[in-house]
Amino acid sequence: MGNAVRPALITMRILVISDIHANLTAFEAVVKAAGKVDAVWCLGDLVGYGPDPNECIALLRSLPEMTCLLGNHDAAALGEIDLAAFNREASLSSQWTRATLTPANMAYLRSLPEKLFIGQVTLAHGSPRNPVWEYLLDTITAASNFDFFETHLCFVGHTHLPVAFIMDEKTHYVDWRLMRQSKPFTFGGRTIINPGSVGQPRDRDPRAAYAIFYPEQNLWEPYRAEYDIPSVQKRIMNAELPLRHALRLAEGW
Ligand code: ZN
Repeated sequence: MGNAVRPALITMRILVISDIHANLTAFEAVVKAAGKVDAVWCLGDLVGYGPDPNECIALLRSLPEMTCLLGNHDAAALGEIDLAAFNREASLSSQWTRATLTPANMAYLRSLPEKLFIGQVTLAHGSPRNPVWEYLLDTITAASNFDFFETHLCFVGHTHLPVAFIMDEKTHYVDWRLMRQSKPFTFGGRTIINPGSVGQPRDRDPRAAYAIFYPEQNLWEPYRAEYDIPSVQKRIMNAELPLRHALRLAEGW
């Protein structure tokens, strides 16, 4: 278990990313480290917190076979939600993002779906039950979400934590597991899994998080990519965005 041997034949590699949060340097590092992929699935929150919303949308849209969902920060930048739902710093960064996004990129965010099904996978930003807003931070919340999707797998973002929630086929008991860099994970029972965050990791590892999904092999490979954090912190401060969002990048919270 866990050490699946990759067959020699050519197989589909899908880059799974989430929560880029307008951090272009982290996003570029992930795209480079991932190498050639056949498709890109992005689970939302392209913008918010970071200094490069337009540049991140441009890079995302240049990627092959790209699919992207709407996240809560994307909805906030569109003015579709009440900013009272955010803390003060998140609200300030959302207002800055709204003022900075080009009309074309606003229209792009507006076009994003809240939930998608691709083959045996459901995609949602937060959870299958409440795709834009719900946080899956514990096994009880995760367990109650297995009734809200039909597919074998569900990929989510939103918590910025690379974790898997796995349902035992017989007992329906749900366990969880933290995804560690370079430990391949073979899907068994129904699973809800999160690739972690590209632009603002919160598991105390400041490196950008992403995953490669091999649908034919039922395999998930979690990865981390180092990037130039001080350059992003400088751009956050130059843009007069809240200092807290610069500081946290270095520590991964
Ligand atoms: Zn987020």
